[in-house]
Amino acid sequence: YYMAYQRQLLDVIFRRKPVYVRALDDVNLSIVRGSVTSVVGESGSGKTTMGKIITTMEKPTGGTYYFEGKEVRGSYVEEVRKRVSMVFQNPATSVNPRMKIKAIVSEPLGRFDENRVAEVLESVGLRYSDVKDKQPRELSGGQIQRVAIARALVKNPELLVLDEPTSALDESVQAQMLNLFVELQKQYSVTYVFITHNIAVAKYISDTMVVTYAGKVFEYGSTEKILNSPKHPYTQLLISSVPSFESKKLRSPTGDVPSLIDPPPGCRFKNRCPFAMETCSKEPPIAEINGVKVACWLYVGNAVENPN
Ligand code: SF4
Repeated sequence: YYMAYQRQLLDVIFRRKPVYVRALDDVNLSIVRGSVTSVVGESGSGKTTMGKIITTMEKPTGGTYYFEGKEVRGSYVEEVRKRVSMVFQNPATSVNPRMKIKAIVSEPLGRFDENRVAEVLESVGLRYSDVKDKQPRELSGGQIQRVAIARALVKNPELLVLDEPTSALDESVQAQMLNLFVELQKQYSVTYVFITHNIAVAKYISDTMVVTYAGKVFEYGSTEKILNSPKHPYTQLLISSVPSFESKKLRSPTGDVPSLIDPPPGCRFKNRCPFAMETCSKEPPIAEINGVKVACWLYVGNAVENPN
């Protein structure tokens, strides 16, 4: 779905206090420094690509990525890369299996700093003397994910993208890891973008929520407000399919997510939406209701932005 981003503008702007992110098809997102924003959606919704663009691992193929108001290109890519970091879903494939733990964690520093490596490993709940000379295969999945988190934090990033960081782990470890993320966020004053398909996880971890679908942002705002009173029909379906929030999996509404390579015109949810109407064949406006942004024709009366 690389090509889907050709028409998309990803604009991440860091300011001294709040962090503004203008992302994904002209929806303006603002991320307050030190906050946790969850990006919720099914696979294929563009969540991981969004994370990779923010961390400069991927270039937007057609749009432009701005960080602190400056386009991320040329030598600026390296500068941004120093300030952002990412933790991936599968810990076993995100660390080099042949390296020792101390080398894995110190690698981003470009030199070995034993004090720093020990400090960051202790902060993720691993004893330095126990793990420093081990290789990943000698550790459990949960421990390897802790190593990957330590590696991501070793340079004190301002923004950490966490891409489904608990979904490859045993259920018994997931809750511990979520608590660890909460603690680390306070300790390091780091801003999180937390990518998840699990709305219960988003509820637990985030203060702000971005609901994505087929490369679009459908709803964006306070997690509490969205969960209490979801406005977008897709968000409503997501929430009603997890009635108790105890389910670990986000169940999809019926129907297929449209192809991102050649998406249909207008609202990308229209083939699954119970409220679809003729006008939904045109790009929906972005409305604002009680501080929450919603891209849907049902709220045209509250429109604050119209599509190009
Ligand atoms: Fe449904 Fe139309 Fe809103 Fe899309 S724009 S979610 S099809 S009502």
